[in-house]
Amino acid sequence: MADNLSLERLVQALRRLPGVGVKSAQRMAFHLLQHDREGARVLAGALQDAAGSVHHCAMCHTFTEAEICSTCEDPARDRSQLCVVETPADQAAMERTGAYKGLYFVLMGKLSPLDGVGPRDIGLDKLLDRIMDTDAPVLREVILATNFTAEGETTAHVITQALRDRDIKVTRLARGVPVGSELEYVDLGTIAHALVDRR
Ligand code: ZN
Repeated sequence: MADNLSLERLVQALRRLPGVGVKSAQRMAFHLLQHDREGARVLAGALQDAAGSVHHCAMCHTFTEAEICSTCEDPARDRSQLCVVETPADQAAMERTGAYKGLYFVLMGKLSPLDGVGPRDIGLDKLLDRIMDTDAPVLREVILATNFTAEGETTAHVITQALRDRDIKVTRLARGVPVGSELEYVDLGTIAHALVDRR
């Protein structure tokens, strides 16, 4: 297939996406080249732009194009509370409840020792630095809103242990959220209740 190196490269590039195997990657590549060249160019441009301009917020670690994201910048947010979530999608779910007015820290993953994901691979070091930071006295409570999966519970446990000797209240979302569930898919009323009933 020496005459098709570009196609082969495209298929290999698509295979980098999570959950995409050879067959799916080929299907996507054929679709774009056969039916949607314009879409292929739009996709290429969007990837190029995002890869170049999106980075992590210096405070909460979420994706942003600014140095500090708009939530962290917002003077109306309650700086005494810091809610720890796994992903920007989980943060968005918390925001949709309208029940939380504090700040966030987005881990961008969860501890998963079996898959070789340790504290350094998620933003855990950065979270602990942030909590120990000089302006930390305003911070009074860390709310752990990692998912109710084995990995999410492990992550919550590790953070709790790391903060054990600090003068900060550490709470966990209450158990109204079904075991094994990811926050992103839990209904808003349930999250809001779990937040109110946190321990
Ligand atoms: Zn931020």
